Amino acid sequence: MTEGPVELLQELIRNQCVNDGSANSGHEVRSVGTLRDFLGVAGEVFEPAPDRQSVVYRIPGHDPTAPSLALVPHLDVVPVDPTGWSVDPFAAEIHDGFVYGRGAVDMLNVTAAMTTAVRPYLTGEKSPRGDLVFAAVADEETGGRLGAKALVEERWGLVGADYLLTEIAYPSIELGDHRSVPVSIGEKGAYWSVLETRGRPSHGSTPYGSDNALEKLVTALAGVVSTPAPAAMTPEWLGFVGRLGLDDESVRRLTDIDQLDDEIDRIAVGDPTLARYIHAATHLTLATNMLRAGTKVNVVADRARAQVDIRGLPGMDREFVDAHLRKAMGSAGDQVDIEPIMDGDATVSSVGNTLWDAIGDAVEELDGHRNLAPTLMTVATDARFWRARGTVCYGVGLFDGRMSFSEMLSLFHGDDERMSTASVERTASLYERVLERFFAAS
Ligand SMILES: [Zn+2]
Repeated sequence: MTEGPVELLQELIRNQCVNDGSANSGHEVRSVGTLRDFLGVAGEVFEPAPDRQSVVYRIPGHDPTAPSLALVPHLDVVPVDPTGWSVDPFAAEIHDGFVYGRGAVDMLNVTAAMTTAVRPYLTGEKSPRGDLVFAAVADEETGGRLGAKALVEERWGLVGADYLLTEIAYPSIELGDHRSVPVSIGEKGAYWSVLETRGRPSHGSTPYGSDNALEKLVTALAGVVSTPAPAAMTPEWLGFVGRLGLDDESVRRLTDIDQLDDEIDRIAVGDPTLARYIHAATHLTLATNMLRAGTKVNVVADRARAQVDIRGLPGMDREFVDAHLRKAMGSAGDQVDIEPIMDGDATVSSVGNTLWDAIGDAVEELDGHRNLAPTLMTVATDARFWRARGTVCYGVGLFDGRMSFSEMLSLFHGDDERMSTASVERTASLYERVLERFFAAS
């Protein structure tokens, strides 16, 4: 019988709910079974495709005027190449106080902590003032079509809420004797794009004057790669930097758009992962990740396609992205078609409300301070579906100090993904207190 959040995390890792993007991967049915056993309450199962299960519990509050709160962890994990691991990625072994396994960081640690914290409400031991929703969902790692997205679109009466907690739980940031707890308040927009050119096939032995799609595309891509990405000092970035306890000079360098890129280069020498985060949190980012062209080595390429992962800060929309691409490609872009394959604007929740205060109270009780650093996520999470409907969404955790902010970032989808058992337990305690404070205050 699984009792605590650490054992639950181990079981979730061993379930191997690997989502490779195909509909017949994931098999979240396994972890839904684990959660239902752990909770002893059936809940409502949502299964839009075979074995792609999510489970939802909605406990009505005893005060119909009180705000509702949803906890929404995901159950799936990304694929793994075991050759880079020092242990079996699905054995969930504990070494030196760390649970190793795919999903230990993203996000089964949080799933286990949330499940532990909501259990007394689901079993009737505690009664929430407003509605409490607990939705453990499938398919986050490929966009939520078989999980959160579908639930929000089709079952809003079941999963809708005023406030919500999901990803990302980051470790505390410690600078000197100042410690702050990052709270994810928003995420960048995603504007994945295909850049495509057409040419005319002819013999590769006589290329003079030929119309080569690949040569046109790489010339345009050279402009995309070499043009500096636009930066912006968003309120989210200024809010984050202002809460870290940095000295005035560091704050100045990180918030002056003319000094920022040099500062990022300086930070990269000692901490490349942190530099990468700071860059992404302050810039439009473009990563040209896929290229396909031509049919045969001796045939002039008649078609070329590149796929670019583009992420925009709040305020940088599709129009902004396309304008940047056009400018960067210059005249080489005249023959390039830009085809959007994902258009999702950045979403941000405001701070200073019942849930924000409840998190502050809980952090103060467990960590002795209430320094919450509002943090913009560079990745997309399920929160965006609720934010688009007006829900205030945050991600938060409480770690034990054995992993830094940048170490954690480097373990996301990485080799030897691991989480300390103490961090899992502290995060579960945090959620228990957040729930208590939230329902007491509201
Ligand atoms: Zn995740």
